[in-house]
Amino acid sequence: MKIIPEIQSAQEEMKALRRWFHAYPELSFEEEQTSERVAKTLEGYGIEVHRGLARTGVVGVLRAGHGNRSVGLRADMDALPMHELNTFAHRSQYPGKMHACGHDGHMAMLLGAARYLAKSRDFDGTIVLIFSPAEENGSGAKVMIDEGIFDKFPVDAVFGLHNSPGTPLNTFGVRPGPILAGSAEFDIRIIGVGAHAAFPQDGKDPVLTGAQLVTALQGIITRNKKPLDTAVLSVTQFHGGEARNVIPDIVTIGGTVRAFSEATLDLIESRMRTIVGSVAEANECKGELKVRRCAPTINSPDETQFAAKVMKSIVGESKVNLDVEPSMGGEDFAYMLQARPGSFAFLGAGNGEHRELGHGPGPCSLHNTSYDFNDEILPVGSTYYVELARQWLGGARA
Ligand SMILES: [Zn+2]
Ligand SMILES: [Zn+2]
Repeated sequence: MKIIPEIQSAQEEMKALRRWFHAYPELSFEEEQTSERVAKTLEGYGIEVHRGLARTGVVGVLRAGHGNRSVGLRADMDALPMHELNTFAHRSQYPGKMHACGHDGHMAMLLGAARYLAKSRDFDGTIVLIFSPAEENGSGAKVMIDEGIFDKFPVDAVFGLHNSPGTPLNTFGVRPGPILAGSAEFDIRIIGVGAHAAFPQDGKDPVLTGAQLVTALQGIITRNKKPLDTAVLSVTQFHGGEARNVIPDIVTIGGTVRAFSEATLDLIESRMRTIVGSVAEANECKGELKVRRCAPTINSPDETQFAAKVMKSIVGESKVNLDVEPSMGGEDFAYMLQARPGSFAFLGAGNGEHRELGHGPGPCSLHNTSYDFNDEILPVGSTYYVELARQWLGGARA
């Protein structure tokens, strides 16, 4: 492995930062302390800092030489609304909030890269360091784009990275085309007429309607979309009723759809609208559907080949999988890739052997109450960000 020596020797500093972020997790668009720490750290490295993008986002700008090429490097900042079961010293200090997706580590890796690049200035052009808020609710990057981040800070291409527990340590996975699914989070309301359970003829039953809907919706996946177009629809919430002998007025159903193209999501959403309306009508109820979409993350081919070349220069050919299996998970980096060419990749975080005493009982997987970011991957991730910038802009050391 070709880790940049100055980054290797800064591993403890990155680790300390990472663990600080882990101990003080903040939710989507509430990353006040987090963004202040990011901004102060960047300023400490002598980097020009812009605060308050998409509310709590931070951008750092680094220039060297006279080149007019530019590149964006992105890390996400937010934590999840869940209760951490780990008991080690850097566990969450805020009950009900937890860095269970490793965004603490993503920030530390990009800050480690920023530290090195600010000192060395061995590149020719402009690097835009993007710390984006609210990835977990799927909208922080979109708000940054809508606010014109790339008009204010133009970049030729943008790159992102996510740690991947359960994948061999310090290996990379990437692919051209779709790498993460787009989503359609949905909420359905079935409005019926409540009645005594013994006299159903006096009511319009939203529970039976909801039960029919749950099965009817699955038909979209098997009957309406092309079998070769990957998609999944999961109903995950079904709420209604208080008493065993009362038919309630209203039932609410929630869930998510994942697919790798906007066209497939459009088709599924449109069929859902028809089915919710028709099944409700058939049962003399009223059906309402609300959908919140996040785009699929689609890597551009040339920039992905470039990213793979950079990965190979660090960890060697055999540790880069250029045909990694796409994930049904989602990522709001999708919106940055709609605005600029670029590539999103996974960095293998190992099988959980880094787990310390005081870990929770569950597996070390993303969005799990026993998760902890693996600090072993900080130097590789950080070197990757640096090499992306240097090799994109030119002026890099051999
Ligand atoms: Zn996540
Ligand atoms: Zn994440």
